[in-house]
Amino acid sequence: MKSSTVENNKQKDVLLEVNDLRIYFDINRKKVAKAVDGVDFSIHKGETVALVGESGSGKSVTSLSVIGLVPMPPGKIISGTIKLEEQELLSLPEKSMRKVRGNDIGMIFQEPMTSLDPVFTIGNQIIESLVYHQRLSKKEARKQAIELLKIVGIANSEKVIDEYPHQLSGGMRQRVMIAIALSNNPKLLIADEPTTALDVTVQSQILKLMLKMKDTFNSSILLITHDMGVVAETADRVLVMYGGQIVEEAAVKELFLNPKHPYTMALLKTMPNLDQNLRRLPSIPGNVPPAHQFPEGCRFADRCEFVMEKCRQVAPELVRISDGHKARCHLPFLKGGEYDAQ
Ligand code: SF4
Repeated sequence: MKSSTVENNKQKDVLLEVNDLRIYFDINRKKVAKAVDGVDFSIHKGETVALVGESGSGKSVTSLSVIGLVPMPPGKIISGTIKLEEQELLSLPEKSMRKVRGNDIGMIFQEPMTSLDPVFTIGNQIIESLVYHQRLSKKEARKQAIELLKIVGIANSEKVIDEYPHQLSGGMRQRVMIAIALSNNPKLLIADEPTTALDVTVQSQILKLMLKMKDTFNSSILLITHDMGVVAETADRVLVMYGGQIVEEAAVKELFLNPKHPYTMALLKTMPNLDQNLRRLPSIPGNVPPAHQFPEGCRFADRCEFVMEKCRQVAPELVRISDGHKARCHLPFLKGGEYDAQ
């Protein structure tokens, strides 16, 4: 196949494309926080992409911008485009964006209680979404809601549909959120720390359910997480964010076997080992710099064990290392923590 044909086919496969996205927040008249600062990425149809980083890295603001939920003001879009297939989302009026949320993009958040309305039954909430987005009658919507609850593994769904959120366990509520998010067969599912509030066994069940649902409904997933264990279990491709920028991008296996950015290496070291009996999870020493005070050179310099003089003066660009693998570092040829002068 000619390379231009291969490129065209790849392009056809792209579901979401984010280009040069910059979202700043006015803190006061003099200070501006550069929460997202020049982010580019794409998600292909059927792909699960993990956006990874500590809190304050810009990953949640990036995902909120895709669903048009960045509070403006104080936030403002400085530059960029976000395209879902052929549709440019950043310029859509709120009324049209509301249709995109729910119809084309489903959302799952960390704490279902903040998204589920405590005064309405589970059934009311799923049925409302089906009536609004799919124009079903209430009777049809109820039948479909019971079906959806069954699909996400809620056994006695005929009874659960008439219960209130507080009557369910955390894992059950998260299953209900998944049912609501998938009720309109969205093209893209955004899951922001979907399992952080759950215990380890339920966490694994929910992740497996999300992947099964993705295949059943033929959706793509943008998974926001700080947990490299969750990434290993679910993602096809990984974007590592730090200081409002993507600092490394690679297929999941490549990232775990051959990380190039010192921040990714440090994140991987925070993963608990099965035979370690740790009282506290290891964390990376130091803090993410505040988004209104980024240093002139590399934003990771204060925490980097490989820092050089140049790093303090010149901001590194995101450079291609191999097919699909990029890193933003002046030492792009690091291998397993050792400098590899290939
Ligand atoms: Fe570390 Fe320098 Fe690379 Fe930044 S550019 S991650 S400080 S080696």
